[in-house]
Amino acid sequence: MVYEILRKYGIRGGYHDQHFLIDERILDRIVDAADIQPHETILEIGAGIGNLTERLMAKAGHVIAIERDPELVYVLKDRFGEPENFTLIQGDVLDVDFPPFDKVVANLPYSISSEITFKLFKYDFKLAILMYQYEFAQRLVSHANSKDYSRLSVNAHYFADTSMIMKIPRGAFSPPPEVLSAVVEIKPRPAHFEVLDEKYFLDFVTAVFGQRRKKMRNSILRNKQLLGIDDMKEFINELPQELLDKRPENLEPEQFAELANIMFRHKQK
Ligand code: SAM
Repeated sequence: MVYEILRKYGIRGGYHDQHFLIDERILDRIVDAADIQPHETILEIGAGIGNLTERLMAKAGHVIAIERDPELVYVLKDRFGEPENFTLIQGDVLDVDFPPFDKVVANLPYSISSEITFKLFKYDFKLAILMYQYEFAQRLVSHANSKDYSRLSVNAHYFADTSMIMKIPRGAFSPPPEVLSAVVEIKPRPAHFEVLDEKYFLDFVTAVFGQRRKKMRNSILRNKQLLGIDDMKEFINELPQELLDKRPENLEPEQFAELANIMFRHKQK
């Protein structure tokens, strides 16, 4: 069926992140994972030829699909027309203001996974079921003391609960990408710990993971300007010393917050 659509419209893909999911069972499993209710509005990013879109439209109250490529926008319009429960936005996902939505379900363009994920965290929604490149998905769901634990993991754990729900082989796509893929479930929730200033906390996490092999003490001293603390050489003695001897990959998200909060309070004085 998906093959037929590709053939009918003469779509080949393979460039601009265009790898179309052709495995119907996996498409169904992605939609099932979203547990879509008839009153819900679903956002889809990168609708492509509409293989996922048509399944979302069958279950949701409303589907908002974003697609950048004019050729694929033509396919989507030709296939679906303009039903009331469907809004098609032609544009770059990074430029578009998302209308309100309940859930987001998408096979993302991998080259901008990070930008899209951070953009989504600024919106209020219940659930995301998103396909990423496998390595990116691993970083998104990993916890402290693992090699994949990164700035992305800390950010994700601050905003949401995340878990990998499916690993997807290359052969599930046409044309097959060079990398493995995985589907991740993201459930936004309030943070489990207090953060006095969100931007300061996130900038601090980014800065120290920029030197992930360095101990926290050295990274903090190196980043004193960014952290806005001129007397860092002396002030660092007031931070919990047991955390300063660790590397960023060994700190829990709440421990980053603990350090950021103390430094932020001092900076405000
Ligand atoms: N949803 C389809 C599927 O499941 O087979 C296509 C997924 S394909 C991995 C990613 C889609 O995102 C492509 O259709 C591509 O044209 C679109 N895309 C790439 N960059 C985009 C951007 N910056 N804004 C909006 N869409 C984009």
